[in-house]
Amino acid sequence: MTQPRTVLVVGGGAAGNAVTILLRRAGLAVDLIEAKDDWNATAGSGITLQGNALRVLRELGVWEQVEASGYAFGSVGITTPDGTVLHVQDDLRTGGDDLPATVGMQRPRLQQILIDAVRASGASVRLGTRAKSLDQDADGVTARFTDGTEGRYDLVIAADGLSSATRAAIGITARPEPTGMAIWRVAAPRPAGVVRTDLAYGGPAYIAGYCPTSEDTIYAYVVESNRDRASIPPETYAEEMRRLASAYGGFWPEITEHITDPAKVNYTWFDRMLVEGSWHRGRVVLVGDAAHCCPPTLAQGAALSLEDAFVLAGMLTASDTWDEALFQGYYERRIRRVRPVVEASVQIGRWQLDGVRDADVPGLMGRTMAMLRELP
Ligand SMILES: Cc1cc2nc3c(=O)[nH]c(=O)nc-3n(C[C@H](O)[C@H](O)[C@H](O)COP(=O)(O)OP(=O)(O)OC[C@H]3O[C@@H](n4cnc5c(N)ncnc54)[C@H](O)[C@@H]3O)c2cc1C
Repeated sequence: MTQPRTVLVVGGGAAGNAVTILLRRAGLAVDLIEAKDDWNATAGSGITLQGNALRVLRELGVWEQVEASGYAFGSVGITTPDGTVLHVQDDLRTGGDDLPATVGMQRPRLQQILIDAVRASGASVRLGTRAKSLDQDADGVTARFTDGTEGRYDLVIAADGLSSATRAAIGITARPEPTGMAIWRVAAPRPAGVVRTDLAYGGPAYIAGYCPTSEDTIYAYVVESNRDRASIPPETYAEEMRRLASAYGGFWPEITEHITDPAKVNYTWFDRMLVEGSWHRGRVVLVGDAAHCCPPTLAQGAALSLEDAFVLAGMLTASDTWDEALFQGYYERRIRRVRPVVEASVQIGRWQLDGVRDADVPGLMGRTMAMLRELP
């Protein structure tokens, strides 16, 4: 009997977990290493999952759990800063008509669902572990780990996110660049009337928005220009977000009451990155934020990362030969779809930074989301 092919997955976020589940299902031997001891099981506030993300989650076999834990909706409201609803736009069902357009979820809940599915897949998982070195030859990759062990693999999948050490280790020099915007985020109880995402444009920030993440919870966010992180001590995060949020009406006064614990408020800059030319070097290949990232103006980062995992796993399991042509084919297939999303996501933020009032934001959003309805 031939030995199953062996894969090392570096990083257990959405992309790494998804590719692990799919490769294990095809009978490959997968080792997953994750830097964080707790596998990021409690990190983050909320996430907006568009239909094309849900389509991959269904392929992973976790759609029922996602549906039961999250909050499905199908439209977005545009409001004035005082909360007056100007327009309600139906969201496009990018995952097909049999899935909701959008599901809001608490990030820790999504991560736990994926962790459970990775565990059930039989992958070997090591937490608190990184790769110290990756040495390639024509047949495979020898990885040496921070826990003193080593392993030999047919393929290494770098799913270690935006600041990927694996990307740097294989000589890809692309780095995330700030777009000029930053976001304050917090989880809060769901006001009874919040049944979809509403976005307020104007006021002291570019956008103030919220998304229901379960029957009981939402996540709320305020987007403004980048500030020097050193000038905002973390112990003032709640105060800073409350100050911005208190300028908004509608459901915001109720939400703002819960912005009290600085440890529960997240402040982060928006970044942009797109690795060009190819997403591999030899037998090490990038997926997810390690290959591309965009500001969440279209809420597509995790969706594209899940799609990468789905496409790569499909190509790997369909082929007896893992060679240059396969990895380049993966890049060509993904870049056609990822580039327009990254560019549109950056453009939407740029228009706001530049104060362009007559920009065709709905048109650009509509064209991009229509493209995403096609299978990846
Ligand atoms: C403010 C903000 C809001 C967003 N909102 C949305 C949204 O609403 N919808 C959406 O679809 N996307 C959204 N995104 C994007 C989304 O979060 C990312 O695209 C997605 O998390 C990428 O998944 P990933 O698995 O590639 O990387 P990550 O989620 O970053 O996972 C990488 C994993 O690798 C681990 N790791 C790192 N280095 C190493 C190492 N050396 N060795 C081993 N493990 C390592 C990390 O601990 C982590 O677990 C948002 C992003 C931001 C910044």
